[in-house]
Formats: sequence, structure tokens, C-alpha cells
Amino acid sequence: MTAFRSPAALVAAGLIPPESLAALERVAAQYAVALTPAMVALAAEPGVARQFLPDVRELDVSVEETADPIGDDAHSPVEGIVHRYPDRVLLKITLTCAVYCRFCFRREMVGPQARSLSPAALDAALAYIADRPEIWEVIITGGDPFVLSPRRLRALMDRLAAIDHVKVIRFHTRVPAVSPELITPALVAALQAPGKATWVALHANHPEELTPAARAACARLIDAGLPMVSQTVLLRGVNDDPAVLGALMRAFVETRIKPYYLHHGDLAPGTSHLRTTLADGRSLMAALRGDLSGLCQPTYVLDIPGGHGKAPVGPNYLGEGWVADPGGGRHAYPT
Ligand code: SF4
Repeated sequence: MTAFRSPAALVAAGLIPPESLAALERVAAQYAVALTPAMVALAAEPGVARQFLPDVRELDVSVEETADPIGDDAHSPVEGIVHRYPDRVLLKITLTCAVYCRFCFRREMVGPQARSLSPAALDAALAYIADRPEIWEVIITGGDPFVLSPRRLRALMDRLAAIDHVKVIRFHTRVPAVSPELITPALVAALQAPGKATWVALHANHPEELTPAARAACARLIDAGLPMVSQTVLLRGVNDDPAVLGALMRAFVETRIKPYYLHHGDLAPGTSHLRTTLADGRSLMAALRGDLSGLCQPTYVLDIPGGHGKAPVGPNYLGEGWVADPGGGRHAYPT
């Protein structure tokens, strides 16, 4: 896979103007850059390009933005593990990705130079999981775990399969959309483990990302018995439009992916130009509820800074003595 990994490569591909090169090299020195060929092919769509092309506004860090915006560090008992809720852990197996998203909440950590967990650190992380019977679900994230070879994923799954109390293994990835060719039969086979349910959460933010190749990659996973859910980050100029967001949710459902979370943009450094307001997000969610099938409804959530977990943030349909219909009309109801 040939990726476009520097501002100079992006200038050469005609994706950014040459006069921006010096400024964008300063951005790239701070935050990793990479687009896959599949995303370069979609770069004429501003809602795709804005997710991946560096922007000089990334150097503007506002006071409320922090390097660890959702408070992972406060819940990391051993390297690679985040244990925020009793019954599940995150396992950050690698900090590399196929693409680098300009809004990433782990942007201070991810990049091509970031290393995967060392064998000793992986041993310690798996021992932590094995020692805690309350851990029912392991969420493999990063970075993007699907950049790992099928051989490494198979080895990880074999070790998780040996832990009886782990029943569910969930992968979070952008790869089926941004590098669908990586979803090979060998990778799909590597994700299966006897006695465990493997789920795949696809992160995609614009309907154009669900190309025929991406949909076929997801079908390879789903047809092999791996259910899929979606994750979307609400982003200014990408999907903060009811028609675009609705088309994305429909594209997920058409691909047999259940819309799961719509994330409010995290307070990651240099991302304020991509964040919407919560009021915008709530009115977009109201529009989805009014217009689209119940299958197409994600939950709009905010990760509370400091590591306090996710809060559903509306909109609200219930008040003292009333309930609102999907169009916003209020109706008396005993509460
Ligand atoms: S693929 Fe995920 S972890 Fe990697 S840069 Fe994008 S949002 Fe961050």
C-alpha cells in the first residue's frame, strides 16, 4: 500500500497548494500525516479531504484542549490497558494507523514512529485481563489494530481465547473504509476465536467513505459472522449537515452496520476548527430522529474530560408533564 505521508507528497499529488508547504510541514512535525490511496481517490470531496489533509489551524491550541482529552491516562493501570468501566478494557495494541485523522483524540500518541506494545508489555496487559474475572469484553484499539498482520492478530486472538471470562472481543478500526484491500480472507479468519463473539466497530464520518470496495470489505467481515457497528465523529464541514449525516447512517445500515455512536468532537489539541457546538449536534440528532428509520439512529455521546466516561447528550424528548414528538411538538403526558 502506497500511502501519502508528507506535505511534500500531498503537494506532488496536487492535494495542497505549494505555497502552503512550509506551514504544513510545521503541522506535520507535530502531528502525523497519512492518506491511503482510497482516501486520495476521494479527496475531491471536501468532507473527506478535511478529515485527513493537514491544516495550519492545527497549530492553534485553545485553552480547553489537552493532550489526553478523554482522560485515558487516569485509568491506565498497565501500559496499553485503559480500564474505565468494570466489565471492559481497552487494549491499545499499536499506535500506528493507516490514515492520520486531523481530529484524532489520541493525536499526541499515534504516528508511524509510535511503537506497538512490546512483547513484555503485551504479556503484562494480558495478565492484567486474565487476573480480573469481571472483564467480559476486550476492545482492541490503538492506533488501528487492523494495520497488524493476520499472523499477529491470530496470535492475539489465541491468547484472548484462552481467557475464559472474556466473552466479547471488539475491534475499533478505520481500515475497512480507508484500506479495504487489507480485509483479506487471512485477516478475517484471524479475527475468529472459538467461544468468543468478535465485533468490529467501523469508524467512518462521511457517506463517500462507504465506497463499493469498502462495502465489500465489510461484507467479508459480516459474512464470516462478525457483526459490525459504527462510530462517527461529528465534524464541522464534514458531516454537520442533516443530509450528509443521514446519508452516512443509511450507508451504514445498507452495509449491515448498525449505527452505534455519534461522538461529539473531543477537546484534542488544535481541533477547534473541526468541532461543532453541542447545540448543533443536538439539532442534527433531532433531524435524524424526525427523518430516518430507527435503525439509522446512533447515540450522540460526549466523552467527559478527565476520564469520567461517556454521557449521552440528547436531544431530550421529555420534560415535566410533556413529551416531544420527532418534529419538536410538545404533548401533555403524565411524568
Ligand atoms: S485511525 Fe483512529 S487512532 Fe488513528 S488517527 Fe484516525 S482516529 Fe486516531
